[in-house]
Amino acid sequence: MPVTTNATEEQLLATWYSGHTDGSVTVIRAFTETPLPHHVKHSPTGYGWGYGGSGPAELARCLLMHALGDDARCHTCDGDGRIVYDPATGRPMSIGEAECELENGDWTNAVVNCMDCEDGCAVVPRMYQTFKFDVIAKLPGQMDATGEMTPWSMPQSEVLEWYRRYQRREREDVSNRG
Ligand SMILES: [Zn+2]
Repeated sequence: MPVTTNATEEQLLATWYSGHTDGSVTVIRAFTETPLPHHVKHSPTGYGWGYGGSGPAELARCLLMHALGDDARCHTCDGDGRIVYDPATGRPMSIGEAECELENGDWTNAVVNCMDCEDGCAVVPRMYQTFKFDVIAKLPGQMDATGEMTPWSMPQSEVLEWYRRYQRREREDVSNRG
């Protein structure tokens, strides 16, 4: 007998993020709940929401990194954080590309930091701080008196939708600057 359910297949297969009263954040996918991977930068003690501090910055960064998956790794430098400009064309190349394509070893002296990322991570402060103020700071924060956090849940699609709007805004900014 087929299992009947009110949820659509899409809802069942979707990834959700969930904040809990103890301040922890989990990823729910295919009926499995796991902690959101914590890439420590602003707040070693954990996440926050409902205000604009370092805990919310940490949550904004980790949520975007998880939701973007492979796109959170900088494609310019291939996640390495360093690049070389092709002496012939001025095009930025990853170290791996340079090793393959540049025959003359002189390029090893011309390695510079990649301008498109932060240590190989494409989720740069400008992006996740904007996400923090747009979304994370607006979630309901600590509950009165109890000291517990107000729980929330958010589909991954909402994070990705914000990201697409952000990219559009960034492109418009660039073209407005001419
Ligand atoms: Zn990069």
